[in-house]
Amino acid sequence: MAAAWQDVVRDAAAVREAAAVAVDAALLAGVLMRTGEQPNASDVVNYAPFTLLPSAVPRALFEQAYAVQQDFNLLVDAVSQNREFLEQTLASTIKVDDFTARLFRIYKQVLEEGLAQTVFLGINRSDYMFDCGLEGTAALRQIEINTIAASFGGLTSRTADVHRLVLKVLGKSEEASQLLPNNPAKGLALGIAKAWELYGSQRAVVMFLVEEVQRNIFDQRCIENELWNRNIRVVRKRFRDVFEQGSLDASRRLYMDGQEVAVVYYREGYVPQVYDEQNWEARLLLERSRAVKCPDIATQLAGTKKVQQELSRQGTLEKLLPGHPEAIARIRATFAGLYSLDEGEEGDRIAATAIADPDRFVLKPQREGGGNNLYGEELRDVLEKIKDSPERTSYILMDKIKPQPALNYLLRAHSPLQVSECISELGIFGVYVRQGRELVLNQAAGHLLRTKAIEHADGGVAAGVAVLDTPFLV
Ligand code: ADP
Ligand code: MG
Repeated sequence: MAAAWQDVVRDAAAVREAAAVAVDAALLAGVLMRTGEQPNASDVVNYAPFTLLPSAVPRALFEQAYAVQQDFNLLVDAVSQNREFLEQTLASTIKVDDFTARLFRIYKQVLEEGLAQTVFLGINRSDYMFDCGLEGTAALRQIEINTIAASFGGLTSRTADVHRLVLKVLGKSEEASQLLPNNPAKGLALGIAKAWELYGSQRAVVMFLVEEVQRNIFDQRCIENELWNRNIRVVRKRFRDVFEQGSLDASRRLYMDGQEVAVVYYREGYVPQVYDEQNWEARLLLERSRAVKCPDIATQLAGTKKVQQELSRQGTLEKLLPGHPEAIARIRATFAGLYSLDEGEEGDRIAATAIADPDRFVLKPQREGGGNNLYGEELRDVLEKIKDSPERTSYILMDKIKPQPALNYLLRAHSPLQVSECISELGIFGVYVRQGRELVLNQAAGHLLRTKAIEHADGGVAAGVAVLDTPFLV
């Protein structure tokens, strides 16, 4: 996998020239982020970090990841509708994890009131790494599935053009022509537009629920603009705005200062830090409403690490997707080893194994957004400390995936140009729409390749660790 650009990677002059072209091309193409200094203004912007060279990805694994995406859409949707499964699966977690418990409380509250929402929209991204086995063949292994605020579908719709140009500058026109087109922004907008249409009110808007700090606004604008192109109005609001301006009418239609909202697309709301009491109240208002939430709170819960771990248990997929043996086989083929740390013998045994051999595992809390997982010595220390306490159940254990590194340059504003040993993570965007019980749209919507230097165990693009990339199929 590593050998694709061996000849150019060490040619300092060629790399420097190509990097200068690459950065300008990224700016021209709109691969942009606001700066850390001015995260809420577009007066000064910079390019989003990206690799100089596309990374080699085994074609068979890439195709496998696409082929299983509709199955994962189906599975997430099934989990979100299975109250018994969610209750059982999260029972131990919510005893010790306040954030998941609070989300769960809202979930139960809206179910008990009766759902006003009848149209459901899922936008997810299933992430994978390529595990390098003993015989040197790579296998596709799912890292996680993101069911809320899966980002970079917009910016990555523009990165392939940049890499195509870079390859040409480096004398590789033939390879440049092989880079695949990729437009998740369009695919995600298609799903939002479908949900908006089924909601059935021409006047109603799509509301992007956005962060207080909006560095990644251009990623979102790519999707917004696709909606405007379809003559669908888009507004950007924060939880705070919902608290101040939001209301429900008698049939629980959602209004923001008198403006009806058809779809709420969350790009916020997945970390505990954003929720003060007002924002929890705003979240509850949204969930109670008839508006199409992307995702609804059940689907957010379906994306927890605990659910992921339980899905890998023998027999669970068969219960959740009866009559879909082929989908189940495709899904299971992507699973890495996942282990419950619930109290009891099973948990005791795996905790002891991980303490003895921490480099085999990753310890994961119920958190999203990167930078929360524990590895190596730290994993051992934490597990030693909590192994006899209920706190243990707020984590899961996962086999550590070990990809084959490749050389590349990570282009980042204000950073020196230097070669790094890198590994990549492939994400496939999924989008589906359900009306009542009927799935009316179920698609893979494009891909995202993120690459990071091997010295970082954790962290995505937003966390400042990984950068945008384009797959070069080999
Ligand atoms: P988050 O919700 O924080 O994004 P992830 O499960 O995606 O959590 O983990 C964050 C990062 O940690 C991943 O992008 C990947 O780089 C690394 N990682 C996660 N799980 C594994 C694993 N099993 N093996 C190797 N690296 C992993
Ligand atoms: Mg992740």
